[in-house]
Amino acid sequence: MASRIIPVDPFDLVVFGGTGDLARRKILPALFRRFCAGQMEEGTRIIGAARSDMDDAEYRAFVAEALIEFNGDHSGCEPGTITRFQQILSYVTLDARGDKGWGELAAKMHPGRVRAFYFSVGPSLFGDLALRLHQHGMADHDTRIVVEKPFGRDLASARALNKALADHFDESQIYRIDHYLGKETVQNLMALRFGNMLFEPLWNSHYVDHIQITVAETVGVGGRGDYYDRAGAMRDMVQNHLMQLLCLIAMEPPAKFDPDAVRDEKLKVIRALGEVDPAQIVRGQYLEDEDKPGYLEHVENPKSLTESFIALKLHVINWRWAGTPFYVRTGKRLKARTSEIAVVFKEAPHNIFDQDSGRHRNILTIRLQPNEGIDLDVTIKEPGPGGMRLVDVPLDMTFTEALGPDAEDVPDAYERLIMDVVRGNQTLFMRGDEVEAAWAWTDPIVAAWEEREDKPLSYETGSSGPDEALALMHKDGRKWRDIRA
Ligand code: NAD
Repeated sequence: MASRIIPVDPFDLVVFGGTGDLARRKILPALFRRFCAGQMEEGTRIIGAARSDMDDAEYRAFVAEALIEFNGDHSGCEPGTITRFQQILSYVTLDARGDKGWGELAAKMHPGRVRAFYFSVGPSLFGDLALRLHQHGMADHDTRIVVEKPFGRDLASARALNKALADHFDESQIYRIDHYLGKETVQNLMALRFGNMLFEPLWNSHYVDHIQITVAETVGVGGRGDYYDRAGAMRDMVQNHLMQLLCLIAMEPPAKFDPDAVRDEKLKVIRALGEVDPAQIVRGQYLEDEDKPGYLEHVENPKSLTESFIALKLHVINWRWAGTPFYVRTGKRLKARTSEIAVVFKEAPHNIFDQDSGRHRNILTIRLQPNEGIDLDVTIKEPGPGGMRLVDVPLDMTFTEALGPDAEDVPDAYERLIMDVVRGNQTLFMRGDEVEAAWAWTDPIVAAWEEREDKPLSYETGSSGPDEALALMHKDGRKWRDIRA
């Protein structure tokens, strides 16, 4: 099965913050890989724009270095591809808050083609960039802007950002990126749910006991301590990434696979989220480990109350999910780097087998990383003599196994999402009202623990978080899945 590359018409893409960490690690390597795959037609241009003084030649060298450092194995590209890619790059020294560079940037734009402006800068500059794009005549119908997280730190700041963008751009031009949504498995979750007859009839509280969502990291906050300490796991991960995953699991089938139809359904899920009982929240901070500093050594405030781990039990209060809890957890310095969603079905209503055959449940696991794929645990008879002994085995659908080597070549999340921007497809991007609804749900939870100065529990590096997080499920007679790579 050959992967299909559909080239897109030549476009102009400007990366504001084109010398920053995100541009070097993610955006430029993603653009390079699409270039290498043959998806960019001749004439496409990528323009870095940032504060540093550089000319085109210096920027091209800077990008080539970043590609070598962060692109991993690009052996699939023809020799000389980096040199050809460099030819489509240029650079403008520009100040988002002043006039410097804007005339030069405007003069580089080709009229009548798609323009995408990637705001790879802190959110405090979003409004300045939107305003100046408008003032310099670069905000026409074919203009799209891409903004990164964090999109606010509460409802008020998210509203202010939405307004600053909406003053100059229509919602249909704004692409709020959440790279989790660009993952192949996440889209496959929609294909699985809405392209098969098998799952949807069972996708409700009659058949689903509970759902677990885990996003575990092994790294600590590293050099991002300043930012992270103002955010914490709830704001940095749950409000956006985990919430988006929860929406895709819990939403009703949209009438069609169209950006607003999908986002309308996701929004309904967020609005149906119930208040969370503080007893159903476990917050943690990682301890130091041998040569690795603990959370409090990573951040400026030695008495910080910010969580680097959170587990919570949520309810989507609607007809479909009444009585089926969602357990979500995310944290740093955990046992393994893994992200997965597990849909745990109820037990069969009556056991016709020997009582010793144990309790068995079907579990559908959607693995986001590593080894993107989907497993369905089914119960079968253990082979051989000795009676009816039951055992759970996975029906494994690792994409590379099921679809052959071409599945290894699928674009990564940033590649897919950037090309979706160019194509004008907003399905996998968050709409302004979704982001605001997510903050409206998050704010009172955070405010409550801030008000009572809730102290996070300590946990060991390499663990599954504080023991209390395990107890959160144990007391319901349930168990978290093991965190393993
Ligand atoms: P960074 O500090 O490494 O880079 C910032 C970039 O913005 C630089 O290119 C700088 O020149 C430019 N810049 C700053 N002030 C400017 C001004 N007045 N005018 C023009 N350009 C200006 O930051 P980063 O890590 O690349 O992050 C950028 C944004 O993306 C931040 O909001 C960050 O939270 C978000 N983000 C970053 C990552 C990541 O992995 N680095 C991941 C997710 C989200």
